[in-house]
Amino acid sequence: MTHRVAIVGAGPSGFYAADGLLRDRPDLRIDLIDRLPTPFGLVRSGVAPDHQGTKAVARQFERLLAQPDVRFAGNVEIGRDLSWDELCQGYDAVIVATGMVIDRKLGVPGEELPHVWGSWKFVAWLNGHPDFRQGPDLSAVRHVAVIGNGNVALDVARLLAKSPEEMARTDIVPETGQAIAAAPLARILVIGRRGPEHASFTNNELAEMGRIGRAVALADAAALDVAAPASDPTPERLRKAKNLEILRGFAGNTPDSKPLSVHFRFHAAPIAIRPGEIELSTGTVPADLVVTCIGYRGEEPPTGEGVFTVGWAQRGPVGTIPTNRADSHAVAREVLAWLGRRDPKSGPDPMPRSTDAAGWHRIDKAEIAAGVPLGRPRVKLIDWKSLLDVAQGD
Ligand SMILES: Cc1cc2nc3c(=O)[nH]c(=O)nc-3n(C[C@H](O)[C@H](O)[C@H](O)COP(=O)(O)OP(=O)(O)OC[C@H]3O[C@@H](n4cnc5c(N)ncnc54)[C@H](O)[C@@H]3O)c2cc1C
Repeated sequence: MTHRVAIVGAGPSGFYAADGLLRDRPDLRIDLIDRLPTPFGLVRSGVAPDHQGTKAVARQFERLLAQPDVRFAGNVEIGRDLSWDELCQGYDAVIVATGMVIDRKLGVPGEELPHVWGSWKFVAWLNGHPDFRQGPDLSAVRHVAVIGNGNVALDVARLLAKSPEEMARTDIVPETGQAIAAAPLARILVIGRRGPEHASFTNNELAEMGRIGRAVALADAAALDVAAPASDPTPERLRKAKNLEILRGFAGNTPDSKPLSVHFRFHAAPIAIRPGEIELSTGTVPADLVVTCIGYRGEEPPTGEGVFTVGWAQRGPVGTIPTNRADSHAVAREVLAWLGRRDPKSGPDPMPRSTDAAGWHRIDKAEIAAGVPLGRPRVKLIDWKSLLDVAQGD
């Protein structure tokens, strides 16, 4: 008899928690439960489809799924299909790794208009998440306002700006890619409330904006006569100083040198959104599509005896995929200490069943096969019915 641990949420933090547990207790039985029939959380549905190198972390997670005592239970939403209490009764410990991706609101009038999209809804749409199959109508979109100064804002601007050729080897949903390619895009404005010295872009992602085939990156020179805050710790200061250098390069670019521009505007707070325009503290600009990239919130994770929380569900929506590793390993040590003080529960196998790892591998195989003739890494199954039909072997 050994302890059984349920991990709810098969995203990075859930997998890293499993990894942390198995390092010290390879005898544990671990069930990874996800509401989707596909594992990997935001690696599949958040990370930009043109960043396949980042998505490759899934291979590490696959190695965990291949372990005999790690099982995947897909298409099971805890709190809907099974209560948290019911789950806790069957397992010796429960780890909550459910993430946190409800788009935060700007809190300005006009935010509910149909041309205003939160970044999660937008990115989930182009990444093929089955809950977000309705995207914005791009057919008449010339001007886009992307609000936010983090890497998700860069993802959104870049994915709209890249040409079909640049997106050809990605796993963007093909229809979404076609809608972007057909849109009459002219300008994407990336809007920051504060100055460029506070932007949280990382250097490589910002520099990538200067290498887009059909789009020229621009920035307002007047805003760039600043230095990275001296009070910041050295790595932060260096990152910000490098960002300023990259932005100064953008400020030197010729505005009409390419059919599309991605323009970085700072010190511009959104005041109101109206059809076709956005009012900023610096003036009103045209905007046929507004994408807010200002962070996420989530529901309070459950608590209780033997219940532990990891990842974005624990820390809030901050940190990259690697950040979750150390955090999840630390929580895994707490879980092991807890288990060490208890005898394993007896009783029938508590795992809720719907789809399993074999089902995910059938989806994976079908998607990769669909990508081969197109030279893409995969073409995703994007609706619940196809995902479940393939996972269940129909
Ligand atoms: C748009 C976007 C782009 C990003 N790009 C990058 C990047 O390029 N590089 C990088 O390092 N980081 C990136 N990140 C950050 C990275 O994705 C997160 O650090 C990481 O995914 C957090 O892991 P997690 O396991 O806590 O949550 P998630 O990845 O969100 O996983 C949570 C899982 O829980 C499941 N779930 C939720 N509720 C339930 C429930 N009730 N029952 C069962 N299952 C449930 C979900 O389906 C999901 O699979 C990005 C984030 C976003 C939002």
